[in-house]
Amino acid sequence: MKQLFYNGVIVTGENQVVIPDGFMVVEDGVIEVVGTQDQLDQFSSIPNKVNLKGNWLIPGLINTHGHIGSTLLRGYGDDLPLATWLETKMWPMEAKFTDETINAAASLAILEMLKSGTTTFLEMYHLHLDLIANLVDTSGIRSCLTRGMIGLCSKTEQESKLAEALQLSRDLRKIGQGRITTMLAPHAPYTCPPEFLEMIVHEAKKQHLPIHTHLSETAKEVSEHFTKYGKRPVEHLAEIGVFDVHTLIAHGVHLTDEELDILEKYQVAVSHNPMSNLKLGSGIAPVGKMLKKQILVSIGTDSAASNNNLDMFQEMRMAALIHKGSSEDPTVVSANEAFLMATYNGAKALGFDSLGLVEVGYAADFVIVNAEKPHLQPNSHVLSHLVYSASGADVVEVYVNGKCLVRDGQCLTMDEEQIIFYANKAFKKLYS
Ligand SMILES: [Zn+2]
Repeated sequence: MKQLFYNGVIVTGENQVVIPDGFMVVEDGVIEVVGTQDQLDQFSSIPNKVNLKGNWLIPGLINTHGHIGSTLLRGYGDDLPLATWLETKMWPMEAKFTDETINAAASLAILEMLKSGTTTFLEMYHLHLDLIANLVDTSGIRSCLTRGMIGLCSKTEQESKLAEALQLSRDLRKIGQGRITTMLAPHAPYTCPPEFLEMIVHEAKKQHLPIHTHLSETAKEVSEHFTKYGKRPVEHLAEIGVFDVHTLIAHGVHLTDEELDILEKYQVAVSHNPMSNLKLGSGIAPVGKMLKKQILVSIGTDSAASNNNLDMFQEMRMAALIHKGSSEDPTVVSANEAFLMATYNGAKALGFDSLGLVEVGYAADFVIVNAEKPHLQPNSHVLSHLVYSASGADVVEVYVNGKCLVRDGQCLTMDEEQIIFYANKAFKKLYS
């Protein structure tokens, strides 16, 4: 089906291009034409037309790190250090999770993400990933699903976790008409002994699967790693061969210049999670240095339990602001850099081709932002407003593969009232 979107402001995502009187033609889920109003006549015969009414059409936002299975723990265990938070709050509650909990949590998260303009997300989770894949399928969102593996167990258990991850990878890719990809996800170097990481790397190479892992999130884990292995985590993972396959690390807060050199050398991508890092008191990742070194930086929210929302506009704004403050340099992480991190860089980090830009030949994953809001006036600095002033609440429509999933702020593929009811019900059951 051919669709024409006209009378809008198009932010392509590339080279800060903003087309003030733009139109776009989409056919079979792919962007076919992007142009200006004066070329519109030749496309006027397209029957399916959407008048953008001067609103802003931007690439869909891409969240490159999270755990949506934990969404019901939002607000449960605030203001605690990471280790205490995990050991006394997250892990004991997760031990009580059932398929019903995961279904309620993931539905809530996908609804929240879609309504706030996220069209693709990465999920690292260890429970009921098949349920999450089914929700991706029915909701219409795009996703990279990874089965998180903790290796603090026997070799037999490690092998069975890896076998499960590989089987899931094969099965889940068949769901969602090509909208689901997968990676192998060792949880972190501090929860995965070297022998287990080697097994994972071996399979990743064999199956051509990328790797996703938490890395150097806290100073404590890095110093314990050094005490245990005599080297810092990045050097260690490089030696094990983890970076021989495409790797996306989450956090990368505590990195030396030498470690940044290694990440650059192996073209390791980073998911920067500024809000989660701030909330857990983990620190501030050296993103200014990463960008200078041409390291690919994308943005993730991490879970709603450590953020506490999944609004990528807020995350993008934080990513653009904190490095200016911490380095006392307002030129660090420009609005354009932050916008790319939340869109095109995210697509590359997740290994998606032709995604993350409003460009001919790219997937028609895009978001329409209400340009009439008072906090987005005067409306001539679109890119600035998108990064420094907009929020997920400004999103009016969301498309993935050319299919409308959110219209007038309402999700067309999910029952909001029911999802909110079941989320609260499932949390009460968990808490009692
Ligand atoms: Zn995480």
